[in-house]
Amino acid sequence: MIKDNITAIRKELPKSVIILAATKKRTVSEVNEAISYGIDTIGENYVQEAKEKFKALKGRVKIHCIGHLQTNKVKDAVLIFDLIETVDSLKIAREIDKRSSKVMPILIEVNSGKEENKGGCMPEDVLELVKDVSKLKNLKVKGLMTMAPNVKDVRPYFKLTKDLFDKIKNLKIPNVDMEILSMGMSDSYKVAAQEGANLVRIGTGIFGSR
Ligand SMILES: *Cc1c(COP(=O)(O)O)cnc(C)c1O
Repeated sequence: MIKDNITAIRKELPKSVIILAATKKRTVSEVNEAISYGIDTIGENYVQEAKEKFKALKGRVKIHCIGHLQTNKVKDAVLIFDLIETVDSLKIAREIDKRSSKVMPILIEVNSGKEENKGGCMPEDVLELVKDVSKLKNLKVKGLMTMAPNVKDVRPYFKLTKDLFDKIKNLKIPNVDMEILSMGMSDSYKVAAQEGANLVRIGTGIFGSR
């Protein structure tokens, strides 16, 4: 099943789009199966869960942090994750800068629906955050990530995030490499790719319902 799902999704996306398998609550054996069918990047939401799987998966797959990161978890997070997709404040960026012993690639999470009680930086504040983070030695901004609101038509939120991405890219800010645009999940990855995502995060579409 995992094999068929990955094959079907791969066929629907341009080659240049990375399929990140969202592996929260999935076992190491399920993750291994996905890896054997070509998945080379996974996303974990919780530091503790990622830590447990890390031992078994270390070096075999890139692990992204796709969940909200708390300050007190950063110390562990910098040891496990290859990239943190959910930086949304200067506070958390400074903590990563302080705790990491190497340059940590990060994405800025954009709250494209401007939803209260949701993670992500408000769209109008993203540029300033990128500029501030670009000055930190141990972080490298590699792009943007967004979780669209839970509505039928998510395209406008992807468009907004892509516009921001292009705007920041064109500014050519020192120490900022705008390469990754992470948008779209199982129910929206096709729209996201049409709107310029080059990394989609898929859980149930690969592994079945949780
Ligand atoms: C769980 C999760 C996904 C994948 O969601 P599905 O609907 O299962 O594809 C993508 N992004 C984030 C941040 C997630 O937490």
